[in-house]
Amino acid sequence: MIFLKSNDELRFMDQANRLVHQALEASREAAKPGTTTAELDTLAERIIREGGGEPAFKGYRGFPSTLCTSVNDEIVHGIPSRKVLLKEGDILSVDCGAIVHGYYGDAAITFPIGQVSPAAQKLIEVTRACLEDAVAQVKPGGRLGDVAAAVQLRAEGEGFGVVRDFVGHGVGRALHEDPQVPNYGKPGHGLQLKPGLVIAIEPMITEGSWKIRVDADGWTARTEDGKLAAHFEYSVAVTDHGHWVLGREE
Ligand code: MG
Ligand code: MG
Repeated sequence: MIFLKSNDELRFMDQANRLVHQALEASREAAKPGTTTAELDTLAERIIREGGGEPAFKGYRGFPSTLCTSVNDEIVHGIPSRKVLLKEGDILSVDCGAIVHGYYGDAAITFPIGQVSPAAQKLIEVTRACLEDAVAQVKPGGRLGDVAAAVQLRAEGEGFGVVRDFVGHGVGRALHEDPQVPNYGKPGHGLQLKPGLVIAIEPMITEGSWKIRVDADGWTARTEDGKLAAHFEYSVAVTDHGHWVLGREE
């Protein structure tokens, strides 16, 4: 079932996403060689709670933390740990959710730790560009397939893989609502976009094959071939004339 949001609901979602983006940016600034992913998690939780929100992931289906922190070949859903020390040359994907007045925000970024290889830097930049290309397709009368195809075109055009096993999603009063938002598809196909629809668009792009495996912890998804992966996400509302990237400073 798809729920269209009122302007009041969108304002709460914007607040939730603002907290998420603050937590993500603070994580980026704090993440240095030697920092643990658990330290980033503590920082993010404090920012969200001080801002009047609640962490959305903590306790979600038993997930233990505020952030998902996924290093190098980990794609998504990595669990922050005092045992995971970041090191020079790593890339780190941080995914975060927050709840304000019952409404969810959900966003993610990937960034380098110190100096990274040109190949790693390119993967990050292309994944961010995939998200921007997809956001540009969000407007009334557009279709979900336009959004999906924009990600796929950019990623595969650069020779990268598009993860199939995880997709974006509607978001609002729940973290995951209908519709599913894949990162591959055909332009002109799929659900027609209407004002008030909010979708979390989240390209997960790999250096090699898009095949994944999940660790014994039941959460951490990594590339089957051990190559790098990157992940960016925005919660995006369809407006009367285009789109609104929730929580982003314009
Ligand atoms: Mg997310
Ligand atoms: Mg999401």
